[in-house]
Amino acid sequence: MMPFRLRQALSVQDAVLQGAASPTAQQGSTVRFLAGGTTLLDLMKLDVEHPTHVVQLAKLGLDRIEALPDGGLCIGATVRNADLAHHEYVKRGYPVLSEALLSGASAQLRNMATTAGNLLQRTRCVYFRDTAMACNKRAPGSGCDALAGYNRNLAILGTSEHCIASNPSDMNVALAVLEPQIHVEGLHGERTVPFSKFHLVPRETPHLETVLVPGDLVTHLTLPPLPPDARSGYLKLRDRASYEFALASCAIVLVTRDGKVDTIRIGLGGIATRPWRAIEAEHMLAGQPLTEANVQAAAAAALKGAKPQSENGFKVELARRCIVQAIRNVAGEAFQ
Ligand code: SF4
Repeated sequence: MMPFRLRQALSVQDAVLQGAASPTAQQGSTVRFLAGGTTLLDLMKLDVEHPTHVVQLAKLGLDRIEALPDGGLCIGATVRNADLAHHEYVKRGYPVLSEALLSGASAQLRNMATTAGNLLQRTRCVYFRDTAMACNKRAPGSGCDALAGYNRNLAILGTSEHCIASNPSDMNVALAVLEPQIHVEGLHGERTVPFSKFHLVPRETPHLETVLVPGDLVTHLTLPPLPPDARSGYLKLRDRASYEFALASCAIVLVTRDGKVDTIRIGLGGIATRPWRAIEAEHMLAGQPLTEANVQAAAAAALKGAKPQSENGFKVELARRCIVQAIRNVAGEAFQ
């Protein structure tokens, strides 16, 4: 690991100023924010990340979960994943979020990892984490060894010829269907970014993963309330039952009226380069009864644009089945 300077941020503004000191102001200087450290410290030990400055966020008071007057929820950036998953308001009002969080990592990691850290979780592509290999995300322009290599776990949606890395976060799949606003403090003040606009697909610039710029600090997320009669849930398919990333996963928010779909939101994970919404499938099901035929057709449409790689063609069928089963689980008797 390279030497680095560790500093405690004294306020949000202080963190932003320290974060913005890289890389334009000081040549060769890079700054990283440290919260739970469950991704950053691993990557520093692997020499994938080598910041010159690390800014700790522990004393900023961003670790609160608060109910909002409209029935929504405000989640601080440094709220631990375990605290969020077990929060009564989350379990009652947003079960899909609780289930997604509890399906991720291990109990020890969930006790350390934070909301904003999970939001910004880096890919588990093995070539990204090995500095001997070519990786456009880690070293722009160096190539992508995953294209002709081990790509079983990687993406089939949202890929480009420059990167096929999958977004590994379970929490992000749940957030895709909960549609939060992400609150960011930057050099030019506070702004909010809808979750759907936050993560980028790789295109020619896989090293750019979000709309954040140097100095930007995620301070909190606000979740809008779900309709009182909404049901939600998360289904994760993986090689083993715990401490494993998704091969395919699906988050659902569903409202039915008179035997037909009033609202359905379908989020997909493990198969896409960013948290994914199956918009076409949602449109196909809107206003329709949840029959086996309708759901099967919608699930097939969700995978229509899939581009399998040499080792992950099985994900097309796996994800299709994952969608059908996730809807079946959440719909209960409404699934005919
Ligand atoms: Fe790097 Fe992306 Fe290729 Fe993996 S898939 S080696 S992260 S460029």
